[in-house]
Amino acid sequence: MKVAILRTDMEQAPQKSRTPRILVVEDEPDIAALIAYQLTREGFRVETSASGPEALKAIHREVPDLLVLDRMLPGLSGDEVLKALKEEPATQGVPVLVLTAKREQEDRITGLEMGADDYLTKPFSPRELVLRCRAILRRSSESSGVSGGRILTSGPIRMDVGAHQVTLGGEELNLTPTEFRLLQALMERRGRTQSRRQLLEEAWDVEADVSDRIQTRTVDMHIRRLRAKLDDVGDWIETVRGFGYRLRVPGAEG
Ligand code: CA
Repeated sequence: MKVAILRTDMEQAPQKSRTPRILVVEDEPDIAALIAYQLTREGFRVETSASGPEALKAIHREVPDLLVLDRMLPGLSGDEVLKALKEEPATQGVPVLVLTAKREQEDRITGLEMGADDYLTKPFSPRELVLRCRAILRRSSESSGVSGGRILTSGPIRMDVGAHQVTLGGEELNLTPTEFRLLQALMERRGRTQSRRQLLEEAWDVEADVSDRIQTRTVDMHIRRLRAKLDDVGDWIETVRGFGYRLRVPGAEG
């Protein structure tokens, strides 16, 4: 019965397909504009930062789905940004595509050792950049448990997105449409931290131009209810202080 209600509800507000957000960190305005243009045209949401410190600020404001990071930056180098990202639990899962003007093999190795997911040498074709970004995002969503049939799983939690059904250890859970979308947002980016603003935009389908206080209160209240419903399998939804929330990956520590 509850499932039927959910389904009707969801049909009235069709599921918004998630648009990956890409943060482009590049100090050369022409290159930054070109990359932003290409990726926007491909349907991504793109933000740009022109320096390392600016990039870190943007990442703390909202953790992106992918970082396109130039190595040569003023203030803080791309390597230092990457290092800072990997040291912070809330951001260490963000995939990174590193751009470099250098061709040396050792640069490539250093970058990959530091945790970059891929590497692109300038000058590159816009097409190549788009393909690399798509490949990284695809791998990243596969590793976070998103499958083609839109069945999301995380430990004992299983979500059938099409049927709007969630089971916990085989038992069906009674979630409100908002709780469902909230859990879906967390499951789709399992292991990665999402800000309250992101969750608000995805679960409530609103542009989150409300105050931080209201964002916090609204999201926190629904997270609390969702946690209560998932209670018996432990602390799945983790609070990441100063950032937001993330769904714990089964078997992963803290
Ligand atoms: Ca540069």
